Amino acid sequence: MQLIKTVNDMQDVGRWFRGECKTIGFVPTMGALHEGHLSLVRRSKEENDRTVVSIFINPTQFGPNEDFEKYPRDIEGDLSKLSAINTDVVFMPETGEMYPEGFSVSVDMGAVGKVLCGASRPGHFNAVATVVAKLINVVMPHRVYMGQKDFQQTVIIKKLVRELNADTKIVVSPTVRETDGLALSSRNMYLNEQERKAALILYKALKLGEELVLSRGMDESGLVKKEMEAFIKTEPLAKTEYVDIVDAYNLAPVQRVIFAAVICIAVRIGKTRLIDNIIIEKG
Ligand code: AMP
Repeated sequence: MQLIKTVNDMQDVGRWFRGECKTIGFVPTMGALHEGHLSLVRRSKEENDRTVVSIFINPTQFGPNEDFEKYPRDIEGDLSKLSAINTDVVFMPETGEMYPEGFSVSVDMGAVGKVLCGASRPGHFNAVATVVAKLINVVMPHRVYMGQKDFQQTVIIKKLVRELNADTKIVVSPTVRETDGLALSSRNMYLNEQERKAALILYKALKLGEELVLSRGMDESGLVKKEMEAFIKTEPLAKTEYVDIVDAYNLAPVQRVIFAAVICIAVRIGKTRLIDNIIIEKG
């Protein structure tokens, strides 16, 4: 496994792979890797000749009161997990390498970056789109692998690639969950034992929403939201930030739950903010 720290070296390797007619799969991450990340790496390995994983905790996408400083870091563990599954290249730039003195460009994603998580995290998705655009230019991948867990992010990056005519394809992979349903997340490490149990309310609420629509024929999104919010309230450690039902393509709110709609939720469990979603599809 090759460890690369500079943009120039990464571009040399990307160019080399392309010159050799090798397809490149790319998995951008912020590290603290778990099975969710590794599922993307495995899929990339199956579908490409070479797989590059980036580990970069992008400071610009964290708000002033967010967890940049204490975001989990485990470089040694990450490298050994990636090496164990035969990752070809790990790209791990320092902040100054990605944002040299005087850096000022920012991508503006418009309305899709201002709804759902974007409503409480102003500028977050523009910063995510900017760093992913840079990483795509550095790695030059044929395919970029992203998790459905961050549904809004996948919609935004697809739009970015489409509208900037980037020569790559975004591949979205299903959310990997614990056996009880909790979506794997680097932020689950923040939860104590009691909070870990309470965090299950997210998945249960999503399954309730799905059942209301698919089995009980409730198609008015306002009613589904209400039932889900009331259900989340039954968990004393949980505080709903939002429950929203949106169009899977452009994240616009839907009045009636038609296909394919996505139910997206953000809930605070104690001080930890967790997100999850479910795509409502006909069986
Ligand atoms: P992060 O390191 O949190 O920025 O995540 C890097 C990538 O891994 C993103 O595309 C995430 O959507 C994806 N990811 C995170 N958690 C999961 C999960 N539980 N299942 C599948 N993909 C995930």
